[in-house]
Amino acid sequence: MTQIAEKTEVLIVGAGPTGLTLGALLKQRGVDVTIVDKAAEMARTSRAAVIHARTLEQLHEVGVNAELLRRGLVVPRFTVREDDRALITIDFDDLPTEHPYTLMLSQDQTETVLRERLAELGGEVHQSREVANLAQDADGATATLSDGSVIRADYVVGADGMHSVVRESAGIGFTGAAYEESFVLADVTLDWELSQPEVMLYFAPAGLVVIAPLPGGRHRIVATVEEAPESPDLGFVQAILDERGPKKRPAKVTEVVWSSRFRVHHRLADSYRQGRVFIAGDAAHVHSPAGGQGMNTGIQDAVALAGRLADVLRGGAAVETLDRYESERRPVAAMVVHLTDRLTALATVHGPVRRRARNALLWVLDHVPAVGRKLAMNLSGLAIDNAATARPAVEMVVA
Ligand SMILES: Cc1cc2nc3c(=O)[nH]c(=O)nc-3n(C[C@H](O)[C@H](O)[C@H](O)COP(=O)(O)OP(=O)(O)OC[C@H]3O[C@@H](n4cnc5c(N)ncnc54)[C@H](O)[C@@H]3O)c2cc1C
Repeated sequence: MTQIAEKTEVLIVGAGPTGLTLGALLKQRGVDVTIVDKAAEMARTSRAAVIHARTLEQLHEVGVNAELLRRGLVVPRFTVREDDRALITIDFDDLPTEHPYTLMLSQDQTETVLRERLAELGGEVHQSREVANLAQDADGATATLSDGSVIRADYVVGADGMHSVVRESAGIGFTGAAYEESFVLADVTLDWELSQPEVMLYFAPAGLVVIAPLPGGRHRIVATVEEAPESPDLGFVQAILDERGPKKRPAKVTEVVWSSRFRVHHRLADSYRQGRVFIAGDAAHVHSPAGGQGMNTGIQDAVALAGRLADVLRGGAAVETLDRYESERRPVAAMVVHLTDRLTALATVHGPVRRRARNALLWVLDHVPAVGRKLAMNLSGLAIDNAATARPAVEMVVA
């Protein structure tokens, strides 16, 4: 028996931050959208915890900023440290934006706020619906779900994460490799005199550890390790902080609220579009969590793509407008993959001589205001509008 297809203008596969942002913006522009996610319910884990200035600027359009700011914690500064010494300080507080800071908020909270906005706009996520296959023709695309149901759409967007079925069905390559190290993540409570509204990246011979404040008095710990346990416990996290963190005023972990490990790849999709199928977010690019860029880049992809699709479907723009999505966004992801790769390499320099040289260079660069500003522009995403100037600051530090 032939299955009768549901029909929609835009099918969004995946309801992470990328799919939710896209869905809300398309609903806002009056586009008929169907959002499916294979998970039975939304993920309730912390994951990405940083929202940068450019993302906040763009989320104005979605109408979620007030709620994100109410829930999040404003942090105006990143520092790179070794032991008790700050090697370089990156200040966000004089950036040319109405959000001169990073906002710390766990990903499940960000997703909750986006979902609530989507619901206000009359949208919803269809949970437990997994896209198994995709085919397209001149007039549209047809998605077959694992329960055998079929959805016919004018356009399909794969916001289905790193292992994207949409990307694979469209035959788009995902070029890159995996990092050797794993990353440990833990949201903890600390007994720590040095606690302040600052993200601290500690460089140490054994590897990187990041200590970042979160709302509610918690801290996010991120560290590179050779092999991480599945759920790093208090003793494991404490040992990392003792070895790599502050020495004079050490941080004592009093509770691990959530912990995880993940292996990171640096990969970029060979293209962002195949006919009527687009990819966005982790489906299109993955990279090191250094600098907290992943979710931000995905949300910005969604904003760009929503604008193009709505212009074509509602604004009478020519279909060629859609080509601009890839030409705008793929170079940005290439830059982010490069930036985070360089930052990771910088943090994990091996050998005492090279480490001393790196620290001396960072110390010198810390006294050149233009370098700190360029790093702040890069990390905040504000350099994106001028991508040509975005790379040199990183090259100067890492070369
Ligand atoms: C453990 C962990 C820790 C992380 N920590 C950080 C961090 O510290 N900093 C940082 O910047 N980033 C971090 N990240 C990465 C960050 O979470 C991602 O960059 C972000 O979630 C990307 O959003 P997305 O919407 O593109 O994809 P995702 O959040 O991956 O969402 C994809 C969605 O698609 C759904 N889906 C997948 N396949 C299908 C299918 N076939 N059919 C239907 N639905 C499907 C999934 O269920 C999921 O809901 C972390 C990721 C993990 C897993």
